[in-house]
Amino acid sequence: MKILVAVKRVVDYAVKVRVKPDKSGVETSNVKMSMNPFCEIALEEALRIRESGAADEVVAVTVGPAQCADTLRTALAMGADRAVHVDAGAAPVLPLSVSKILRALVQVEQPGLLILGKQAIDDDCNQTGQMVAGLLKWPQGTFASKVVLDKAKQVATVEREVDGGLETLCLDLPAVITTDLRLNQPRYATLPNIMKAKSKVIKKFTPEELNVEIKSDLEVVQVTEPPKRKAGVIVSSVDELVDKLKNEARVL
Ligand code: AMP
Repeated sequence: MKILVAVKRVVDYAVKVRVKPDKSGVETSNVKMSMNPFCEIALEEALRIRESGAADEVVAVTVGPAQCADTLRTALAMGADRAVHVDAGAAPVLPLSVSKILRALVQVEQPGLLILGKQAIDDDCNQTGQMVAGLLKWPQGTFASKVVLDKAKQVATVEREVDGGLETLCLDLPAVITTDLRLNQPRYATLPNIMKAKSKVIKKFTPEELNVEIKSDLEVVQVTEPPKRKAGVIVSSVDELVDKLKNEARVL
């Protein structure tokens, strides 16, 4: 069985994001970019499933501009067997378009499992996995905190953390899974594997070759910084605190 893993290139989680002066978006030039943390978890899970013998091949896929090839090299260095880059140019690609591209790639690659992060930390959409499952009419297990694959029965058991506790789903394969933070601890790429990754294959497509038209019904009107927090004050007594909560903050 083959596992397809969607990995997105995003501003590194440790970078303090800055808004562009024209407020059209956030600054990405000269900013450290990395693989979306939830996608690292998705890839790690796919590698563990392959290492357990339940899958034979892990294919990493990304949609985005030429620089996304770096993210695929990281995926290959972590252990993916192959990679696919859908070069969609510089314009942002929204979840519905990514989902249509993933559906087209599923038709090309015929995987038994498609694993994605639960959300990308740049747009925080949390939509792509659900949309692609809908487009493919495949069962979905989102926010997975545990995945167990039964190769013989072709079933994936997915545990997910919900408000009331743990929910367990049994999905008939092929299926879509999106990964939550507690699923696993992704591995680091070792230096020899980084070197080996340089010679692994990255197959390229354009959206047109996959018969997907990239378009958006959404327009970003403005991106602004959150309002700055005011400095705190030290009060000298409980009475003063209660007074401020009542009359200034008006929360009592
Ligand atoms: P989102 O719905 O944008 O929050 O993204 C959820 C997940 O969809 C991500 O963690 C990725 O696994 C996948 N995804 C979203 N956009 C892309 C992209 N441009 N390329 C590859 N995977 C993506």
